[in-house]
Amino acid sequence: MARYTSSACRQCRREGTKLFLKGEKCFSQKCAVGKRPTPPGQHGQARQRKMSEYGTQLREKQKARRAYGVLETQFKRTYNRATTMKGVTGENLLQLLERRLDNVVYRAGMAASRAQARQLVNHGHFLVNGKKVDIPSFTVKSDDVITVRARSKEMDHFKAVREGSTRILPKWLSLNADELTATVAALPARDDVDFSLQENMIVEFYSR
Ligand code: SF4
Repeated sequence: MARYTSSACRQCRREGTKLFLKGEKCFSQKCAVGKRPTPPGQHGQARQRKMSEYGTQLREKQKARRAYGVLETQFKRTYNRATTMKGVTGENLLQLLERRLDNVVYRAGMAASRAQARQLVNHGHFLVNGKKVDIPSFTVKSDDVITVRARSKEMDHFKAVREGSTRILPKWLSLNADELTATVAALPARDDVDFSLQENMIVEFYSR
């Protein structure tokens, strides 16, 4: 499976914002965005200059791709799907990204980061409505129930989730930590996205 190989913190510094790619470290004083809020590289500081309109649109698109860990081809496919849905394309795009199974596992507190969630899904640890799903990009629907497979529940990782999940859940998800079961109570809304993003810039980028 293709994935980003660049350092997670480097990606955040490049986008100038926290993308929460590294689990607990992102919520600590060790976060690189807080310590060095300049673009990466030897000349990162010197490179700060006014960006063109195209540059701003590109950066917003890259920020969304990096936050959700999606490569360009799949991101464009998701965008195309968003354009066919009713409503505002930018908001549809964000909703589709939030509804990815790997994102749901992360947002429900069953993984420390989206990257870890993607790996857990890939390894077949989750059922959606009782059926095994090992596709991270799988799109959940309202009322879907995501559970950890019975034999995976004894893994140390899931024992830790059962005993100490402290994640504040978005209002569209609920978690029964004892049962390791997350339920999609509603479809995510625009304000459920947990980092700053101008999705209209992404639409403008692809409409050029
Ligand atoms: Fe690194 Fe997380 Fe901070 Fe991003 S938010 S710079 S991944 S620690």
